Amino acid sequence: MTGLLLNITGNGKGKSTSAFGTIIRAMGWDWRIALLQFVKGTIQTGEQLFFEKMKSNRFIYEKSGCGYSWTPGDHVGYASKGWERAKELLKSSELELLVLDELNIVLAENMLDVNEVIDALQNRHPNLNVIITGRSAPQNLLDICDLVSRIEAEKHPFENGLTARKGIDF
Ligand code: ATP
Ligand code: MG
Repeated sequence: MTGLLLNITGNGKGKSTSAFGTIIRAMGWDWRIALLQFVKGTIQTGEQLFFEKMKSNRFIYEKSGCGYSWTPGDHVGYASKGWERAKELLKSSELELLVLDELNIVLAENMLDVNEVIDALQNRHPNLNVIITGRSAPQNLLDICDLVSRIEAEKHPFENGLTARKGIDF
């Protein structure tokens, strides 16, 4: 079956966790899956602790980032390295699902060429399903997606001065 291209964007919480939920669903069907996490690098997260334990010949898990763009670091270098790996996996006949977590952010901040990304997505292995997450997805990327969900932020504890919580946010 032809693979789908899904994009989860918007300002509300629930983009990455939606992709992680789909990974669980696909794992249930013994799909071969890869998760590449862009942007977030040094911050330890619950999903990292979990996915590191899940790594196998059917599950690839890699991070390529050095934190949020306002923190110092070679953001473009990490983005390019992650993208090189993504390009390789996009051609693979050995995968059913590839998740590119926070790729929208990398594109919104012009760390990669969006036209090159669009071209590689359109020329991926035809059976491969791809999920891209992150705020501020560029419109020309959304135009080529089969599914776009824009998560709206109606309320967030951050507005009441509450910061990110272990187990809920990271
Ligand atoms: P999650 O990983 O929980 O699904 P996300 O992928 O939708 O979140 P990101 O843009 O990756 O969201 O941001 C991750 C962090 O930002 C999380 O700690 C999350 O709680 C926080 N966050 C998400 N939405 C908002 C918001 N509207 N206001 C403030 N902080 C937010
Ligand atoms: Mg996210």
